Amino acid sequence: MRASDLAALAIGNAVLIGAMWVRHGQLAELGSPSGILIAAGQLAALYGTYLVLLQLILMSRSPWLDQVLGSDRVAALHRWVGFSGILLLVAHGVFTVVGYGLATGSGVLAEALTILTSYPYVLMATAGMALFVAIGISSVGAVRRRLSYETWYGLHLYAYLAIALAFLHQLAVGTDFTTDPVARIYWIALYVVAGALMLIFRFAQPVTLSLRHRLRVANVVEEAPGVVSIYMTGRDLDQLATRAGQWFRWRFLTPEDWWRSHPFSLSAAPNGRFLRVTVKAQGDQTQKLQRVRIGTPVFLEGPYGNMTGAARTRPKVLLIAGGIGVTPLRALLEELPAAPGDLTLVYRASRPQDLVFRRELEQLSAIRGATVHYLVGRRGTRAMPGDPLAPEALRRLVPDVRQHDVYVCGPLPMMEAVRRSLRALHVPDAQVHDERFAF
Ligand SMILES: Cc1cc2nc3c(=O)[nH]c(=O)nc-3n(C[C@H](O)[C@H](O)[C@H](O)COP(=O)(O)OP(=O)(O)OC[C@H]3O[C@@H](n4cnc5c(N)ncnc54)[C@H](O)[C@@H]3O)c2cc1C
Repeated sequence: MRASDLAALAIGNAVLIGAMWVRHGQLAELGSPSGILIAAGQLAALYGTYLVLLQLILMSRSPWLDQVLGSDRVAALHRWVGFSGILLLVAHGVFTVVGYGLATGSGVLAEALTILTSYPYVLMATAGMALFVAIGISSVGAVRRRLSYETWYGLHLYAYLAIALAFLHQLAVGTDFTTDPVARIYWIALYVVAGALMLIFRFAQPVTLSLRHRLRVANVVEEAPGVVSIYMTGRDLDQLATRAGQWFRWRFLTPEDWWRSHPFSLSAAPNGRFLRVTVKAQGDQTQKLQRVRIGTPVFLEGPYGNMTGAARTRPKVLLIAGGIGVTPLRALLEELPAAPGDLTLVYRASRPQDLVFRRELEQLSAIRGATVHYLVGRRGTRAMPGDPLAPEALRRLVPDVRQHDVYVCGPLPMMEAVRRSLRALHVPDAQVHDERFAF
């Protein structure tokens, strides 16, 4: 299945929902301003609920969906669908209260009070909507930056409660639910599909995968100050379907932190003997992982990401790494098939001590016939007056850059600057593959 098939499926369902609404005779209600508002309220409820269910599917973390759409697109859709769904549910409340207020001639406040106290489950649905609004506000850039990841994530868990509260309201008063058995079955099927995908991919699949492979920390090696490689061994690792460039959500089962997972890329190509991630201390959890004990059991969820050899369009490959973004590129340098001379790594770091894997990179480049360029230093200093990844600088390093597939991973500003340089050098977007270390 391709992304366009999924888009067609989502649009097809949206059309069906509209058609069912029309079949219920709602167009006949459009003769008055109150009728128009009530109808707008119904449509907002139907599409708001539909978007919330799509959001559940996006939140299921299905590796399959991640492959079809790509991690970045799933994250972008998650934001868009989330905000739009919340706006529609708020609009549903406002249009319905004002519409019925006009129809009955009572004021908006009096009508709101009547609806809240006399319609079944409206109070619960309103509480659910307040939770959705709080989740939406917590995700607005400026607010999100002030919250710790755990607080923000914890708040998102209330979305499940909000959905349960809204479901009872729809079941009891939704026109589609109460009057049309076909529509009722259709909507329940939508809830069941979204719920099942959640259960499968957030629970059953990771538990099965983890029980099958029984990963444990086998070794922890310091790569640089504040950066360690964690080696994990387990059962049947040769049958774990993953490849270089991909990432998993890892849950290190320590007494304090077993409940939270973190995304890390594989920093060595899968080899059937061990899996390796390389972790830079960026916050409390990654700080603790620097000292994770040997023997700690590890749960894993994934694999995710399609910055792999499958994205390849050209024989030549350029890997551009910034800081700890070198981890998936180090694995790709090991795995991607390429003739000697066709593989180049450009590795940008601010300070020499930030470079990791230096010895490994030397060994790998010798074995693979690859070229490695280190770009070390702070921009604007005497040693590095300009941007070493600006178009001209990049062209000097890799004159035939247009003939390459380019894999990029690093801090977001660096990745955006590289994208701009590649466009200026007329490298087609289809040849550029990247992974962001942030959602
Ligand atoms: C696809 C992907 C691959 C990654 N690969 C690597 C890697 O190979 N090596 C490496 O060192 N780092 C990697 N990271 C970054 C790493 O996941 C975060 O640095 C880590 O989760 C921070 O956790 P913390 O509790 O120490 O920090 P915090 O202080 O909690 O957060 C520091 C930053 O990390 C983000 N973050 C925290 N927890 C999570 C989480 N569970 N999911 C997503 N983001 C989170 C926060 O939003 C914040 O921006 C990757 C991130 C992503 C999205």
